Amino acid sequence: MPFAPPRPCKFTSRGCRKMAVPGSSCCAEHLAQVRREADKKRMSDEDVARVRRWYKTKIWYARRSACLKAALFRCATPGCVNRATDCDHIIPHCGDWSLFIESSNHQALCHSCHSTKTSSQDRGFGNRRKS
Ligand SMILES: [Zn+2]
Ligand SMILES: [Zn+2]
Repeated sequence: MPFAPPRPCKFTSRGCRKMAVPGSSCCAEHLAQVRREADKKRMSDEDVARVRRWYKTKIWYARRSACLKAALFRCATPGCVNRATDCDHIIPHCGDWSLFIESSNHQALCHSCHSTKTSSQDRGFGNRRKS
């Protein structure tokens, strides 16, 4: 899929020097932050149950295996030599189907890097942050 030319993150006014994620107006970190804030309001228990079902859909299996194959089963973490087994969402989808299924939002990670990432974000499924 073609990438739009990179633009700076819309939070440049707050000192961000990163480029925006293609198709979005801010960088991955700011997008994740914005999403996390929205997530607190949006992710109800029904949403969590719904997302669990997404992980069982054929289209997800297809996207996941396409992601791993495209990465030649190499983990996306720099320096990591483990075989990638997991398809990670670069921007947390937070119950958003288009982010969930968008292949440009997928990266291959090994199981260990994926667990590190999801636990550092404190958002393993069914384990939502209570704040
Ligand atoms: Zn930013
Ligand atoms: Zn790894």
